[in-house]
Amino acid sequence: MNISAKDYDYIWHPYTHQLHRHEAIAITDGKGALLFDEEGNEYIDGISSWWVNVHGHGNKFIAKKIYAQAKKLQQVIFTSFTHKPAVALAEKLLSILPGNPGKIFYSDNGSTATEVALKMCLQYWVNKGEPARKKIIAFENAYHGDTFGAMSISQRGTYTDAYRDKLFEVLFIPLPKGQNLEQIAQLIDQRTDLAGFIYEPLLLGAGGMKMYEAKHFDNLLRIVRGKKLLLIADEVLTGFYRTGKMFASERMHTKPDIICLSKGLTGGTMALGVTSCTAEVHEAFLSADKTKTLFHGHSFTANPLACTAANASLELFAGEKYPGRIEKLVKHNMKFASRLTAFAEQGIIKDVRQCGTVLAFEVQTKE
Ligand code: PMP
Repeated sequence: MNISAKDYDYIWHPYTHQLHRHEAIAITDGKGALLFDEEGNEYIDGISSWWVNVHGHGNKFIAKKIYAQAKKLQQVIFTSFTHKPAVALAEKLLSILPGNPGKIFYSDNGSTATEVALKMCLQYWVNKGEPARKKIIAFENAYHGDTFGAMSISQRGTYTDAYRDKLFEVLFIPLPKGQNLEQIAQLIDQRTDLAGFIYEPLLLGAGGMKMYEAKHFDNLLRIVRGKKLLLIADEVLTGFYRTGKMFASERMHTKPDIICLSKGLTGGTMALGVTSCTAEVHEAFLSADKTKTLFHGHSFTANPLACTAANASLELFAGEKYPGRIEKLVKHNMKFASRLTAFAEQGIIKDVRQCGTVLAFEVQTKE
């Protein structure tokens, strides 16, 4: 029996309708932008394996680093113990993340990165003696992951309907368009129960590749910061040059207090999550009172192999060729967008939009 047939019998895949399903394509190899299946067919990995693969498949530099680390230390509990790859990665991230990050908290995927951010934000206010601040603001159509906290701060819909009454209430606001800023400001104004604002900067990914302008967003961030709320940038998807800059938050003057990373962090090789926070956020957890501890951790927190892969990926990004390559890619993408606009005029597609290296459009279907 081939891999796909066995898979059909044994495995329950994510987001997959269980009654009407096809056999999954069994991928055996990856090289650059290409994937190969067990029959030798070739595929362009247009979704970069769920937005994680940033240097192409089969990167030998990262593979060699992982192999070397695997011979030394593959895993160690991360409470009371640490290791060089985690420390090196934290030091590097603190030097390149926008704003004034003071600490790195590790977990192991994008949903855990946003869960940790939420817990940090909510407990920050509890620890500071303002427990009434417990409401989170999020964007309409947001997507921050599939665990319960992450689902709560994401758009309600088909994905969350079965658990709707278990999700906590959130203040959803529209994307800033310029003319609606005053209206959004009114939603926030006078409220004393708000804790923080979580957002996917400039690009709402899973919610429909919706893009919005840095200029308007910066104005919104300034308003929210003025209300003393914590700003949480979910850069799980936008991180690592997707929007043309290493981090999308670099494009706004108002910087986040907390940043979530995953996906491209390890160059698309291994699962790792990061939640950074400012020294000011961390300070709220410095207390003789042990109940003020952030009680959160996962078995594979800061896995040494994953941290090694992330260090290797950042080394590649720091290589002299990189900034030029990204600029070229962005220019190429802009040209591509203008060509696609011609198709839009013929009514085949609509809403061509582009942000850095990301290009999106809607396929015009018959009503
Ligand atoms: N935040 C954003 C913006 C995402 O796009 C995703 C994943 N698509 C997540 C969080 C969740 O990440 P993960 O799939 O690793 O749990």
